[in-house]
Amino acid sequence: RQGRSSASKYPGLENYEVLEKMGEGAFSVVYKARHLISNKLVAIKVLRKFQMDRSQKQAVLKEVTIMRQLKHPNIVRFAEVIESDSYYYIVQELAVGGEIFAAIVNFTYLSEDLSRHIIYQVAEAVRYLHEEVGVVHRDIKPENLLFQPIAFRPSLNPFSKLRRSDDPKTKKDEGEFVPGIGGGTIGVVKLADFGLSKQIWEHNTKTPCGTVGYTAPEIVRDERYSKEVDMWAIGCVLYTLLCGFPPFYDERIETLTEKVARGKYTFLAPWWDEISDEAKYCVTRLLTVDPKKRYTINDLLNDPWLSKAKKPTSAVV
Ligand code: ADP
Ligand code: MG
Repeated sequence: RQGRSSASKYPGLENYEVLEKMGEGAFSVVYKARHLISNKLVAIKVLRKFQMDRSQKQAVLKEVTIMRQLKHPNIVRFAEVIESDSYYYIVQELAVGGEIFAAIVNFTYLSEDLSRHIIYQVAEAVRYLHEEVGVVHRDIKPENLLFQPIAFRPSLNPFSKLRRSDDPKTKKDEGEFVPGIGGGTIGVVKLADFGLSKQIWEHNTKTPCGTVGYTAPEIVRDERYSKEVDMWAIGCVLYTLLCGFPPFYDERIETLTEKVARGKYTFLAPWWDEISDEAKYCVTRLLTVDPKKRYTINDLLNDPWLSKAKKPTSAVV
């Protein structure tokens, strides 16, 4: 196979060989690609300018502005942005494993250990965003949580950890879970998609963006932009990882909206019967309707259930 470039289909991507599709969103298609000079694999988010209005184009540039500031092991790293007449291309670190969403679909639900392994890393990424960069992600969901598979001990079935391990009948086969090593196929979790994210203060200065002096109180504390929305979303993700279905669901959007507004969810039997009270407590504190009483990111990192997680070790045996 020759290193054929992608000049014909995607003008502007002459330095890359576009490979298979990794996923897609409402406005984008994401491809795996190979940088022809360095030979490195990357992910390229292709956004079609056609039918994008001014504000949508501005949103893409804002996504790039936010992404290029971010340097964290649990956040997909920005590489470069290329603009052609018809497309924007956002070149970024490739998360080889794809979406965590696929793992839930394939394996129904995850063990408490594996769920903790994932949520701990999401929490580290969000702590960095909320406390160090002043960014609210606003779109945390399984489709935007990607992963980098890492080595697992060959004696273990790589897929066993994707199943619940607290069932005494299957426990024997699964061996000991070691975060960061025995995390089954899910090694390093990478938060992606800053398309809806919002900067609430400038990086390094910690002063809010723009002129705050004349801004009305309801705008200053606009709840749509505040950090609490990410914490709620983490609660929804954690709930979904543990049982395999989301806390709020309805065929009709009106009914769903109403359920969310009331914060009405249950730990449905029998799916939640064997899940620990500590895990349920953590979910409860995240899925708290009053944003002031909801867990902050630091509360979450100190939560008894979550803080059972050890820092993933870099030593892969
Ligand atoms: P959108 O804003 O349209 O939702 P995303 O940035 O979420 O776009 O990308 C869409 C999908 O493409 C993701 O859900 C995921 O499946 C895949 N994807 C995105 N970025 C990467 C990446 N860096 N590595 C691997 N797959 C990715
Ligand atoms: Mg997305």
